[in-house]
Order: sequence, then C-alpha cells, then structure tokens
Amino acid sequence: MTHVHFDIFTLFPGMFAGPFDDSIIQRAQEASIISIGLHNIRDYAEGKHMITDDYPYGGGGGMVMKPEPIFRAVESVLSEAMPIILLTPQGRQFDQSVALELAGHARIALICGRYEGVDERVRRYLCTDEISIGDFVLSGGEIAAMVIVDAVTRLLPGALGAEHGADEDSHATGLLEYPHYTRPPDFRGQRVPDVLISGHHANVARWRRQQSLLRTALRRPDLLETAWLTDDDLAFLKRLEADPGIAQRLLQDL
Ligand code: SAH
Repeated sequence: MTHVHFDIFTLFPGMFAGPFDDSIIQRAQEASIISIGLHNIRDYAEGKHMITDDYPYGGGGGMVMKPEPIFRAVESVLSEAMPIILLTPQGRQFDQSVALELAGHARIALICGRYEGVDERVRRYLCTDEISIGDFVLSGGEIAAMVIVDAVTRLLPGALGAEHGADEDSHATGLLEYPHYTRPPDFRGQRVPDVLISGHHANVARWRRQQSLLRTALRRPDLLETAWLTDDDLAFLKRLEADPGIAQRLLQDL
C-alpha cells in the first residue's frame, strides 16, 4: 500500500495543529495513508539560549536562520536518501505535476524558513530541492508545507474515500473542472442546467467535458497547450474559435 511520510522541520510546530487535525489529512493519518513527523528546529539548537537565528553578514535588516540547528535536526531524523525540500519563494513553482511527482516518494522532508530565510549553506549543501507555492512572499514556510502535504495527500489511493477520486479535479487532466450543482434544482429562480437532471449519462459526460474545455479556454488558455485532448476535444475547440456564439450559448446553459 502507498504510504508517504512527511518530516517537517519548523520553528513553529504548533501552527500545524488545526490543519492536520481535521478532515482528509486527519483521516489519511488514521488510515495510515500518510504520517507526519513535526520537528522543532529549536530542539536542535545549542547553548543556554537555544538560538536559531542571527544577524546577516553584510548588514541589513532582518534575521537569518542559522545553519547548525537545521543541519542537526535534519541529519538526526533522516537516514535514508529522500527529497529534502526547502520552502522558498525562489524555488521551482509547485503545481499539480510536482504534487504527483512527490506522491511517488515514500518519505519527504520539508524545511520551513522564517525571517529573511535560511543561511545559504542550508540550500546549497543540505537540500535537494526548492519549492515555491507561488509568486508572493509568506512570513514562513509552514503554510507552504501544509499546502504541499494537502495536495500530495489527496492524490494517494484511498485518501478521498472510495467513491470519489481526484482524477477529474481541476489540473488533474490538465484542464479546469466543469461546474458543480447540487439540490435544490431551483435556487432563487436560478435553475440547474436541464442536462444534469436528465439522467442521460452520455449527455452529462459530454456537457461536462465541453464546460471543462470552455472554462479552460476562457480562463486559462495557457493550459490547453499541455492538456491531454482527444480528437473530439480539438474539434470542439475549433468550433468554439470559429463561432464565439457557441461559447455564449454554453455559458447561458449555466
Ligand atoms: N527574504 C526571502 C523571503 C523570506 S520569507 C526572499 O526574498 O527570498 C520567509 C520564509 O517564508 C522563507 O524562508 C520561506 O521558507 C517561506 N516562504 C515565503 N514565501 C514562500 C513561497 N512563495 N513559497 C514557499 N515558501 C515561502
């Protein structure tokens, strides 16, 4: 059975309490689909004051996380070879394909920076990978680590429960997902598209695929360049391009 163990190195292990203790991540831990080791970097600091950060050489504002406690923490926990990932806004951008790649590892280490970041030697000599969750700057790597644990976990067999798979999610197929509706059929005069109520499975499947293609074409045309498209999909996209009225009609279906 697939199992992924995450080792998270942080100065703030308490931050993980809420997000990891509910819903899918909590159930995945109970079902032994994942396990999570939280390691407080401060426990590996030395001296009376257990200092984990210091002033930057060369001056300037802010503090830098010292290398020794991070090396000691990682080296005392890890034995086998595994990805050792530094969370940093300078890393390669996290996306669904990186999540899939990580889901193939039995063990993953995540190092959370704080302040101005970590001493450069951590990046150069300890980490094997650097990941950013987007082009913005967070106050620490903890939330980024939670994002990665969440996205990887929902890809593991059994994590979402038997009847629901992650295989139709946005980005899983390289496309954005189609719109969802649930009861009531009429909410304040806004009706659910007839085709979804029709019970005609082939029509529902075609409608969903077309909505998925339409949404992607309108919102994220860049994704169409790498998405897995069938001949039918390509024909549909060609028709969309040739006749914008089709898009209008499909949107009114909503
Ligand atoms: N001075 C650094 C940013 C420090 S932000 C720089 O300009 O590159 C503090 C910490 O938050 C970082 O060490 C990193 O671990 C985390 N962090 C901030 N933004 C992030 C992002 N987009 N993705 C992943 N981690 C991020």
